[in-house]
Amino acid sequence: MAVRIRTAPAGERKLSWWDRLYFPAILSGLRYTFQRLFKKPVTVQYPEEPIVLGPEFRGRPVLVAENGRERCVACGLCARVCPPFAIHMQAAETDDPKERYPAIFEINMLRCIYCGLCEEVCPEEAIVMSPEYDIVFRSREEAIFTKEKLLVEKKLLEPRLQWLQRMRNPQFGKYFRFRIGNNIHSLKARSMVAQGEEVAS
Ligand code: SF4
Ligand code: SF4
Repeated sequence: MAVRIRTAPAGERKLSWWDRLYFPAILSGLRYTFQRLFKKPVTVQYPEEPIVLGPEFRGRPVLVAENGRERCVACGLCARVCPPFAIHMQAAETDDPKERYPAIFEINMLRCIYCGLCEEVCPEEAIVMSPEYDIVFRSREEAIFTKEKLLVEKKLLEPRLQWLQRMRNPQFGKYFRFRIGNNIHSLKARSMVAQGEEVAS
């Protein structure tokens, strides 16, 4: 099928004498400004008014706390992938021979660039980007967020966790689904089974 390509008519960009005065453009700009004076302002009076952001927003990375402990199994992938080496962690053994936990887990928030790669590689959905954006610290030491400061209850992170389920790598389809057969040691799998949730096998 032949494709018709529309070309601009000759002289389309040529300005008339009236256009060259620039009055129409100025008046049209002023008219728009005047109209906006009577509309509801879109400016948010931050910090007096908090800004509510959607689950797609990447705020500071946090660790998911579930059943009174971290979900993290100290695999080290997030620390490995972090471009500015902002994550420092130290794994330790638990009573379960298949399980480890992070005895130390720290993020240097002076280095973090909010890229979200740690969240992307985590096999446990144990580190996620929270909606928190107003972070304050007064010294370099305060900028090192320890495990205690990083742990956030799972229920507070539900919107982001659900968004990740929907949006993360949809091109992989069912193959991206969490598979208990590949994660027999997984804290997440155990917690899902305990709560009677369906886990792909
Ligand atoms: S968001 Fe990016 S920079 Fe920040 S800790 Fe995660 S991987 Fe590192
Ligand atoms: S990738 Fe996830 S499970 Fe592995 S160390 Fe990081 S937070 Fe923990």
